[in-house]
Amino acid sequence: MTSYITKSRVLSGLRCPKRLWLQTFQPKLAKPSSTSELTIANGIEIGKMARLNYPAGILIEHIEHPDVAVAETKRLIDNNCPVPLFEAAFEFAGVLVRADILVPVDGGWRMIEVKSSGSVKDHHLVDCAVQLWVLEGAGVKVQQVCLAHVDTSFVYAGDGNYEQLLVEEDVTEKVRVLLSDVPVWLASHRDILANSIPAVLMGSQCKPDCQFQDHCEQELPEYPVSILPNGRKVITDLQQAGIEDVRDIPDGVLTKERHITVWQATCANQPFISPALKTEFSKLPYPRFYLDFETINFVIPRWAGTRPHQQLPFQWSCHIQRQGGVLEHQEFLDTSGNAPMRVFAESLIAAVEDDGPIIVYGAFESTVIKSLIEFCADLENPLNDILDRLVNLLPWLQNHYYHPAMKGSWSIKAVLPTIAPHLDYSQLDDVQNGTLAQLAYVDIIDPKTAPAVRETKIHNLLKYCELDTLAMVEVVRSFEGGVFS
Ligand code: SF4
Repeated sequence: MTSYITKSRVLSGLRCPKRLWLQTFQPKLAKPSSTSELTIANGIEIGKMARLNYPAGILIEHIEHPDVAVAETKRLIDNNCPVPLFEAAFEFAGVLVRADILVPVDGGWRMIEVKSSGSVKDHHLVDCAVQLWVLEGAGVKVQQVCLAHVDTSFVYAGDGNYEQLLVEEDVTEKVRVLLSDVPVWLASHRDILANSIPAVLMGSQCKPDCQFQDHCEQELPEYPVSILPNGRKVITDLQQAGIEDVRDIPDGVLTKERHITVWQATCANQPFISPALKTEFSKLPYPRFYLDFETINFVIPRWAGTRPHQQLPFQWSCHIQRQGGVLEHQEFLDTSGNAPMRVFAESLIAAVEDDGPIIVYGAFESTVIKSLIEFCADLENPLNDILDRLVNLLPWLQNHYYHPAMKGSWSIKAVLPTIAPHLDYSQLDDVQNGTLAQLAYVDIIDPKTAPAVRETKIHNLLKYCELDTLAMVEVVRSFEGGVFS
């Protein structure tokens, strides 16, 4: 079988040369990433949906045999195929691409790339440019290049009609401008693979979907300068000056208060704890409600009245701390597969009673409650009451606490091990982060999931969300009780 350069590898090399090199020569170092799993699943779903708008189209299969796919595509194109082609395969100069949709038009073809995002991004144009370069190199007359992306204002009526879900934007001119760059990108691609592993430091190019994060992190110093929160410019400046470890940053270089806190605590190898934290937490009256949500955002909306990419809550956990220290736990997880918003809202309103601070970590719960009002207008008053009672722990922690082991992050998963090492997210089975929670939920509501698997996933999901609220209880308890003061 012929060995090709694939478009995805070209794009990978443009984002990070080291990633391309590792994918090619050290693929075993890749660790599965839940984010990339979700991205791929969304891409497949939206690709299938886009084809429904072209019901007469022909799918070119042979995923494992690109030579056969290229030959079959050529035969159809040479015979002036009168219907759209899906996954048409082309090869030029050793580069293999598959066009999501090709539609016959006057004098040639309209090429449509399908993306699950809500708008056209710069990297989509790069993607289309590689595609167009190969198609034209292979002799195909491309009259128009379109990018089909999700219309985030689309509201699903619940009737199975998704005709308006995708919008096709004409990007022909923007893509043609990039065409002359494609040979340069390919030369760079070949150059990367002809040499030893590129020396690339972790930085803004490292997105959660890169499967080599664990590997690259091993090469970092213990406290890399990249941990400085929201410090893109200063991180670049430090790296360019050859400074890789926070402890090597000279006095007076950092100006942002939060960066200085990270630097001082790391250099001293001591946590920073402001006494104000104990004072503030002690003022919280009882009962205290510690609340956390899990949400799902379907690219293709499943429930009437919902939009693509909309955050829809399906689970909550609430620890209730009474005067005297008694701790209760309540939880909700909708497993019906039906729209969970109303039952979620009603059960939540009942759980948080009428009085007492509702403690959350970050702004997410507030945003979700506001969006719930859209679905349950009759519950607007009790939901607004909940909003009025929310107390966000995150800014308090950001302003008053930092431990070197948090490595620049105030996420609850970073804070918890420094306060309550016995509570560890990594000890949870299966569900250890929000993306895995979404994947578990999708399996739970899938009727094809085996009952035993479903029960296990329900158990794991409940444990995960419960730990999120227990973590907040521990944070408040530790500082208030003077364990950390
Ligand atoms: S983690 Fe970052 S530096 Fe490492 S391969 Fe991925 S993108 Fe490149």
